[in-house]
Amino acid sequence: MEYKKITSPAEKNIALVAHDNLKTTLTKWCAQHREALSAHQLFATGTSGTYVEKESGLSVTKLISGPLGGDQQIGSRISEGQIDLLIFFWDPFEPMPHDPDVKALLRIAAVWNIPVACNRSTADMLITSSLMAASYVREVPDYERYLEARKR
Ligand code: PGA
Repeated sequence: MEYKKITSPAEKNIALVAHDNLKTTLTKWCAQHREALSAHQLFATGTSGTYVEKESGLSVTKLISGPLGGDQQIGSRISEGQIDLLIFFWDPFEPMPHDPDVKALLRIAAVWNIPVACNRSTADMLITSSLMAASYVREVPDYERYLEARKR
């Protein structure tokens, strides 16, 4: 694969997802970091977003609920360069009916080289990073150059 550089802006698009047993962890984390998060645009799967709005007062664009396709919606937005960072508190103790979607979301986040926090410690480190308030250049797959290279 060929790679190119793109820039995540200082005001980032952040996706929030938490499985049921971790929704309280997510809402507490959002309330704790309310001021830092308010500088960014927030997106979430349906139920997680509803809880975050209610508990923290932050404004969240709510997508479809995870088991109904919300994880895939977030993955699609990541592929389109519309999400800069993912907070994904997936539950390591419970199998989920949408486990394939969970795996797909983590894979696509790795493909597009976005920062991902799967637990509260990592989320704390990300949200307090000086890079959160700055634009950030990251390498992503360059499909056009890949196609060009195949023509030769
Ligand atoms: P939910 O989806 O926020 O709608 O509960 C999260 C998930 O289970 O992926």
